[in-house]
Amino acid sequence: MTASPSINTAEANALASQTAAEIEYIVISRHNQMLANRDGEVADYIPELAKVPADQFGLAVASKTGQIFSAGDAQATFTIQSVSKVYTFAMLLELVGREEVYDLVGVQPSSDPFNTITLDPRTNRPFNPMVNAGAIAVCGRLRQLLGPSAFDEVLKLFSRAAGRPLEVDEKVFESERETGHRNRAIGHLLRAAGVYDLPVDEVLDVYFRQCSIKVNAIDLAVMGATLANLGVNPRNGEDLFGLDAVRDTLSVMFTCGMYDGAGDWASRVGLPAKSGVGGGIMAVVNRQIGIGVFSPRLDEAGNSVRGKMCCIGLSEALGLHAFDAANPGSSFLKGLAKPA
Ligand code: GLU
Repeated sequence: MTASPSINTAEANALASQTAAEIEYIVISRHNQMLANRDGEVADYIPELAKVPADQFGLAVASKTGQIFSAGDAQATFTIQSVSKVYTFAMLLELVGREEVYDLVGVQPSSDPFNTITLDPRTNRPFNPMVNAGAIAVCGRLRQLLGPSAFDEVLKLFSRAAGRPLEVDEKVFESERETGHRNRAIGHLLRAAGVYDLPVDEVLDVYFRQCSIKVNAIDLAVMGATLANLGVNPRNGEDLFGLDAVRDTLSVMFTCGMYDGAGDWASRVGLPAKSGVGGGIMAVVNRQIGIGVFSPRLDEAGNSVRGKMCCIGLSEALGLHAFDAANPGSSFLKGLAKPA
């Protein structure tokens, strides 16, 4: 059996020796390769997002042993936007278990845009938790369970997963609140469907705030590594999610995480991932690493152009694709588990 031609075995072998310098080299070189790319457009349907400097570009990898490798603007902050949907979904799974969550929201990819004002006609529930309707339904249940402190609990959990105290970008929050009429319509649709019985604005307050949490590429990498590390943040040892919640979350990221580009992503990158309109992408190599990328110019599917290219580059160079025939990533990145 020969290795897939897409895998750069020289780099894979270099990484097999697991020196931090070599891993740093791969991360930096993938970042450099994409630096000149100016394709795509910054999201502007939330007015405050249009003001983000379009050229920012950070890449970070966090291993399950807590090592961090980064390049470029890896500490530049941006709003997490839809990447937050991953963590509120996992949070609810952890709180009430799979059956109750699956009663609330499906796990079916939808061919509609992320902000479509529809439910799955078969179930009268949102298609999946990665589209707005699903994420708002999850928010509604969190709000119902946790009361007015729901958002504080969300922020606390996100901070524990990132390994540092996170904050809300109040300007983006206000901007979303003022202009989020589609999300408000979805909120009312959910209430009419009996998904929750709460004032819609109370639910959307949590949703808009969760989308406005400020993170950087390193935060996303660590949050991804927490999922990769079976729910335990490898940096601070915080045990956040059980195995069932991690498995269910990674599964829905794999099938539904990348907007209308989910199929192309699954085939070219082969990793569970979630993107946001702020330009962030979080990808997970199960039991090995988390990847965080930030670059605000988006492609037609709504995914960061440079972010996607970086993930394709890392996946090819390191053999990270879940179904790669040779998949050297599975073995050599395990070496990262060894003490330095
Ligand atoms: N807050 C954004 C919205 O609901 C999130 C969109 C996204 O990142 O997909 O429109």
